[in-house]
Amino acid sequence: MTIWFATGNLHKREELAAILKGRRIQIPSQGGIPFEPEETGATFLENALIKARVLYRRVLAPVIADDSGLCVDALGGRPGIFSARYGSEGTKSLDAGERNALLLRELEFTSHRSARFVCAMVLLLHEDRFFVVQETLEGEIIRESRGSGGFGYDPILYLPDKGCTVAELKEEEKNRISHRGKAGRVIGEILASMPDRP
Ligand code: IMP
Repeated sequence: MTIWFATGNLHKREELAAILKGRRIQIPSQGGIPFEPEETGATFLENALIKARVLYRRVLAPVIADDSGLCVDALGGRPGIFSARYGSEGTKSLDAGERNALLLRELEFTSHRSARFVCAMVLLLHEDRFFVVQETLEGEIIRESRGSGGFGYDPILYLPDKGCTVAELKEEEKNRISHRGKAGRVIGEILASMPDRP
């Protein structure tokens, strides 16, 4: 049985497919479905539910959606739910490298560098039947980008107990400890425990 994943981000699709081993994950673009929901929520969870509902109404089948981002303590939790749009104004948007460089400049003069990735994930089985989980990956913002794996802010989140950035982890290791990996496995267990297994 295919599970729809409400994202346009191919990196996220690959990560979730690896996390939910053996399940077929389909994203809207693969089904020719236009998918650009307005993320008007005030929290990761609200935005994840918005994405899940928008896609569910199109496919009328079980949907997983996530909303994730980087929360930096010295910036009062920014960029948070605006992580994908951080530094973008009007039609001008930054690529991931430019966003990372901007964030490093914002933190240039602070030694208070704690930060975390957050992922809210929703499994929506029906308009009024859903499960949610929110997980984190704790780290520190490094002073210079390192590593080429993963995506987004991975090169600037340093994991003190691993001695490397998230972008320097092997894919399996990132999935084992990441915000999305931990949330996705809980969702996978919920799916596997359902009597009317979707
Ligand atoms: P979303 O697609 O609205 O959830 O936006 C998530 C944004 O947060 C991405 O575009 C990335 O910039 C950032 N992000 C979320 N998860 C990760 C991750 O695992 N690594 C690096 N950046 C991430």
